[in-house]
Amino acid sequence: MSVTIIGAGLAGTVAAARLAALGQTVRVIHDRPGVTPMHGGGWLLGLETLARAGVPTGRMDEALALVTQGLADLGLQDGPFDLRDADGVLREVDVAPASHAAAARLPAGSAAVDLLGLGHPFAEMCSGFKVLAVEWPTWPGAFGRSYAAAAAQVEADASHLSALTAALQQALATAPAPGLLLPPVLGLAGVEARRLALEAALGVPVAEALGTIPSTPGLRLWQALAAWRARLAPAVVEVQGRVTAVDLAARTLTIGDAKQPFDALILATGGPIPGGLTSDGAVTEPLLGLRIQPEIACDWQRSVRPDRPYDADLFRAGVPVDAAFRPSRYDGAPVDPRLFAVGDLVAGADAVADRCGSGLAILSGFLAAEAAAAALEAP
Ligand SMILES: Cc1cc2nc3c(=O)[nH]c(=O)nc-3n(C[C@H](O)[C@H](O)[C@H](O)COP(=O)(O)OP(=O)(O)OC[C@H]3O[C@@H](n4cnc5c(N)ncnc54)[C@H](O)[C@@H]3O)c2cc1C
Repeated sequence: MSVTIIGAGLAGTVAAARLAALGQTVRVIHDRPGVTPMHGGGWLLGLETLARAGVPTGRMDEALALVTQGLADLGLQDGPFDLRDADGVLREVDVAPASHAAAARLPAGSAAVDLLGLGHPFAEMCSGFKVLAVEWPTWPGAFGRSYAAAAAQVEADASHLSALTAALQQALATAPAPGLLLPPVLGLAGVEARRLALEAALGVPVAEALGTIPSTPGLRLWQALAAWRARLAPAVVEVQGRVTAVDLAARTLTIGDAKQPFDALILATGGPIPGGLTSDGAVTEPLLGLRIQPEIACDWQRSVRPDRPYDADLFRAGVPVDAAFRPSRYDGAPVDPRLFAVGDLVAGADAVADRCGSGLAILSGFLAAEAAAAALEAP
């Protein structure tokens, strides 16, 4: 018997890793990326929000330890930290990858770096920092205009980082600063090693700002999650494809034209962006028609307000679950003893507006995995 997970974002991957650690075999089915690659890099655990929403938070440290080990390449560090993002906005976060956490240790009087070739006035937006401007990339339009594109180029070709190092050395020679805050451009994997090499070459502490969409830290996280799942093979098997229907009574799901059996199912299908929830007048869960809370008539366009783009009814709605993360009926009983829901799909909190996205994903993934393993063993 094995567990099937639909969704390979943060929540689905943590569930798969926990199941593998418990000795279970797991199938992870997913198609296009959800919102995890949009993650800004500052991890919000939202313990108080989750507790208010009825989520048992006592094992967050264990869940976080599993994630820190599985995503070792990110070098996750415990905060809290006050960190700037790529738009210069100061954000309080609970956990951060090493290259961003280093920003909390930059000395007073540090400079923020404008990369002139990318045309984004990052340093001007970082109040309290001196501005250090460098010409990089060294030819116009080389990386498009996003930091994520620049990071991908650094990943692909080491000469880009050498050019950046030389440009920063030259700039510091004429305008010394005790530390540097860069936008997130130091590649997509092995970032901490590059940051340390840059520090050694420049002789001053260096750190990266958090991301904004398209988010370099989100892409790093997405890549690190895929690498984690790959390392867990053969316990974790990946299937690329979109599930279009689930038949709970027959214990089958449909991918394309094929019906496939499952023993226990974890829905890690996310919120409205990856299609874990849909809205056609009312918000619905498309695979099983699960109960939604709050029950809202929701118009996609009216739901999202320009002044609070992520604080919308549509993002607040989700599938209500019990303490074992089983979707529940109106009377509180589970819909099925072997059906679970995790991450953004779950009701009770808006992952972004309530600042609990990472916390909800990793804790629900961790706990639902344990509940699913126990359900498989139950008579
Ligand atoms: C713009 C933005 C920025 C954010 N920034 C932060 C941040 O800085 N810090 C923080 O803590 N949190 C942040 N969050 C929240 C956090 O990223 C999410 O809460 C978390 O990543 C959700 O993970 P998930 O696994 O539940 O969903 P997702 O990552 O959305 O994954 C859903 C998965 O379901 C799959 N799927 C869906 N339906 C099907 C189907 N029918 N068949 C097959 N596969 C299917 C998709 O392929 C995908 O793999 C941010 C969210 C957004 C939107």
